Amino acid sequence: MQQVAYHRAASEGAALALAAAHPGAAFIAGGTDLLQLFKQGAAAPAQLIDISRLPLDRIERLPFAIRIGALARLADVARHPEVRRSHPALAEAIDASASPQVRNLATVGGNLLQRTRCGYFRSADLPCNKRQPGSGCAARNGENRGHAIFGASPHCAATHASDLAVALLALDAKVHVRRQEAARVLPIDELFRLPGDTPQHDSALDAGELIVAVEVPRGAAGRRSCYLKVRDRASFEFAVVSVAAALEVEDGVIRSARLAAGGVGTVPWRLLASERALAGVRAEPAAFAAAAAHAADGAEPLSQNGFKIELLRRTVQRALDVTCTTATHVPLPR
Ligand code: SF4
Repeated sequence: MQQVAYHRAASEGAALALAAAHPGAAFIAGGTDLLQLFKQGAAAPAQLIDISRLPLDRIERLPFAIRIGALARLADVARHPEVRRSHPALAEAIDASASPQVRNLATVGGNLLQRTRCGYFRSADLPCNKRQPGSGCAARNGENRGHAIFGASPHCAATHASDLAVALLALDAKVHVRRQEAARVLPIDELFRLPGDTPQHDSALDAGELIVAVEVPRGAAGRRSCYLKVRDRASFEFAVVSVAAALEVEDGVIRSARLAAGGVGTVPWRLLASERALAGVRAEPAAFAAAAAHAADGAEPLSQNGFKIELLRRTVQRALDVTCTTATHVPLPR
């Protein structure tokens, strides 16, 4: 059995110092993904830095944004009245994620950095470039029904599994990152890396960097937003296709639109052609259908996942219908 050194960080500074002193160390908080990865042989850091007791779990209403600490539990974010009022897509995406037990434990930062659910990645004895660079991609000619139609490379076509990330992308969130004596802010789409020829790297974080918070702008588009998830069963299941839509509508005309999709890209995927089709048009079903027709522009399906093209178009159209016809405040689930 592999030996693991465990460090409990007493402060953010201590966590960053430990990370700088131990290259390759992994931060752990909720542990809902990392412990699975250990068991599945897909992760084996020699050092663990426990950050679960750091005071990074606040959810704050700022003048122009809502700031969510990286250690906020998913369930607390989804239940927060300000989140449900000002960013319905965010609450809906979390409510559609995992199970209540997982949502009570999993953190925002960990959710964004979770690793793919590709079955080959999580099977230690099968070829997978993401788990073992250079070993090949078993999904290319194997089971690829659930894989990406956007952003794949010959080396990897695994989808990103986070519902939360898709909603945050549609809501134009920023990610605050720190490492020892340095800090930076990334637009959320810059957090995720396309697989290219280095699929083992999922994120743009440098060694020793820690996500400390996510900031989501407060505005009209956030209030008129929704998250729609299509999956093989009604709960505790990853997206086959999902869509987050955020619209700014004035006098019946769409002033701005941001659309993001999950289950279809190697990273959470902006639907730019559909967004362009919506800008400046009246918010009505014909416009939604015209925008949805462009949702899969540029898609490159594999042998088993071509069905996602039509499914994505229909999900976009339905998400736009829902966004423009339902109340903008999401009630708490019973
Ligand atoms: Fe591994 Fe990516 Fe291929 Fe899945 S799609 S087997 S994660 S390289």
